[in-house]
Amino acid sequence: MLDHGLADRLATVRDRIATAAARAGRTPEQILLLAVTKVFPAAVVRDAYELGLRDFGENYVQEFEHKAPLVADLSGARFHLIGHLQSNKSRKALDLFQVIQTVDSPRLAARLNESPTPVEVYLEVKLSAEESKHGALPEKLPELIESVRACPQLTLTGLMTIPPWTEEAEQSRPYFRALRELAARHNLAGLSMGMSHDLEVAIEEGATCVRIGTALFGKRQKS
Ligand SMILES: *Cc1c(COP(=O)(O)O)cnc(C)c1O
Repeated sequence: MLDHGLADRLATVRDRIATAAARAGRTPEQILLLAVTKVFPAAVVRDAYELGLRDFGENYVQEFEHKAPLVADLSGARFHLIGHLQSNKSRKALDLFQVIQTVDSPRLAARLNESPTPVEVYLEVKLSAEESKHGALPEKLPELIESVRACPQLTLTGLMTIPPWTEEAEQSRPYFRALRELAARHNLAGLSMGMSHDLEVAIEEGATCVRIGTALFGKRQKS
């Protein structure tokens, strides 16, 4: 049963992406729309797939372990882990996800390199002083990049960040700009940044992947 609300919201999000891209002299094809389905049931993933979405973001290994069998038949779908990954769950994560966006230590990279098949990764960078945020500090990035590049099973796509929460999208801009500058310095093309409320700012600053939950699926129940 297709949710028409979802089709409308997807059209709106695609429109926002296209408008922001045009303003920045970019094309929408340069920006991956990652549908963040954490907390929502597998049926929501299937609806989104039917509407043409192929990349899905999940935050919790354990939660997705239950959903994965229910979406295993969606050919061409790719699942990205966008939540923090503990080293001891790396093997499980490799079974479930094609992309890991939250690599933040050489130790975790080494664990993921045990994968029998190639894995695409982003490095999560911590650009704010917030206690709760995971990610590698910018000064640790050169060492982390070097260790990931030495891992034959890991394909390094780019950098990912989560700025401090704010309702004011402009406040995210300095974090997005800093991530872009870090990526440029290290010759990395991918920039995973921007969520429902600040995707336009992220695209103006060069995002190649925006992670969108609420604007597509509505408010999440607290889990
Ligand atoms: C939940 C989440 C998102 C989606 O946020 P929305 O504001 O609902 O679009 C994006 N990225 C990460 C890392 C998240 O945890």
